[in-house]
Amino acid sequence: MMTYFLLALLLGVSAAMTVATNWLALRPWRRAADAHWTERARLLWPARVASSVATLLAPAIVVLTYVRWPVWGPVSILGGAVAALAGAISGNYPLAKEIYPDLTLGHWTRSMGLAWTYRLVIGGLFGAAAAIMPERAGWMMLAVVAGLLICYVPLLLGGVVPILVRVGALNKPSDCLQRIVAETATRLQISVSATWEFSSVLANACAMPFRGELLFSTRLLEVLNDEEVATVCAHEMGHLSESRRAKFARLVLGLVCVPMVFAVAAYKNWGFPGVLAIGLWILVGLKLMKAMSRRLETRADAIAHDDQSEDGLYARALETIYRVNQVPAVIGKRRDTHPDLYDRMTAAGVTPDYPRPRAVPRVNPIVVAYIAGLAAAILANIIEVNWSR
Ligand SMILES: [Zn+2]
Repeated sequence: MMTYFLLALLLGVSAAMTVATNWLALRPWRRAADAHWTERARLLWPARVASSVATLLAPAIVVLTYVRWPVWGPVSILGGAVAALAGAISGNYPLAKEIYPDLTLGHWTRSMGLAWTYRLVIGGLFGAAAAIMPERAGWMMLAVVAGLLICYVPLLLGGVVPILVRVGALNKPSDCLQRIVAETATRLQISVSATWEFSSVLANACAMPFRGELLFSTRLLEVLNDEEVATVCAHEMGHLSESRRAKFARLVLGLVCVPMVFAVAAYKNWGFPGVLAIGLWILVGLKLMKAMSRRLETRADAIAHDDQSEDGLYARALETIYRVNQVPAVIGKRRDTHPDLYDRMTAAGVTPDYPRPRAVPRVNPIVVAYIAGLAAAILANIIEVNWSR
C-alpha cells in the first residue's frame, strides 16, 4: 500500500512540476497571439526546450530529493524513477495540446508510447553496457562494446521501420502520394524502395538513407498541394542519393554517444576528469554531427530547388511547413541540424516578405532553474551521505 502511495506521489509531484514550468514557459508565446508567425515561433522555442529538459530533470530532482527519506524503503530507485518519468511525460500533454489544438489524447498517448519505448530501449542498452563494463581493458570490454554495437547499429540504420509498420504506426501511402513519389523518382532517377505515411499533428517528411525509404506525415499532405509535396519529395530523395562517404559519416557520427558506456569505468580509473573527458568528446561529436547534417540538408535543398516545377515553389513549401509546425525562421548560427528557414528560402531564390527575424534567445531561465535544482539536489545528497558516516 505504502509503495503505491509513494509511487503515486512521485508521479504526481513530477507531473505538477512539469505542468507548472511549461505553463510559465508558454507565457510570452500566449501573450503574442496577434504577432507575426515568425515572432510567435521564436517565443515558443524556449518553451519547447524547457519542456524537454523538464521531462528528464524534473524526475531526477524529485527522485534525488526523496531518495534519502526514511519512508523511501519500499520503493526501488528504478521504480521511483519510472514513476517520476511517467509523471513528467504526462505533464507535457497540456503544453502539446495548447500548441497543437488538433491533438487528441489518444493520438498523443500512442505517439509518446512509441517514442518513449524507443528511447528507453536505447537508454536501457547503454545503461546495461555501462553497468557491466569492466574497469580494465581486455576481452570482456571488447565483448561488451561488440554486444552494444550489434544491438544499436541496426537501429541507426533504420531497423525500427518494420516494427513501426507491424504496430500500425506506418501505413501504406495514398495513391496520390505514391504517384508523386513515382514521378519525382523518375525525374531525378533515384530509386525509392518504399514510401510510408504516418499520422502526426506536425507537417513532416523524412528519408531513411540506409533503407532507401521515405516517410511523410498526413499533416504535410494536408497543408501542401501536390506540386509542393513533390518538391519536398525531391529534397528527401536528395538524402537517398547521398554518397557512400556521407552515409558512412552519418553512421560513424551516429555512434557519437557510445563512449558514454565507459563513464563508470572512467570514473573508477580517473575520477571526475575521466567523465569530463568523455562528456567533452561527445559534445565535439555532436557539433560535428550538426555541421555534417547542415551540409547534407543544403545539398538536398539544392536538389529540390533545381527540380521545382515553378520558381519559388520549394521555398513556399518550406515556409508552410515551418509555419504549421511553429518552428522559428531563425534559430541561430550553427545551432541546429538544419540551416535556418530564412537562409533556406533565400538559397531557394525567394527573399521572405519580412525582415530577418531575431534568433531564439540563448539563455533559457527555466532550463537554468532546472539545472540549479538538480545541482542542489545532488549536493544535498552528497552532504547527507558524508554526514551520516
Ligand atoms: Zn532533409
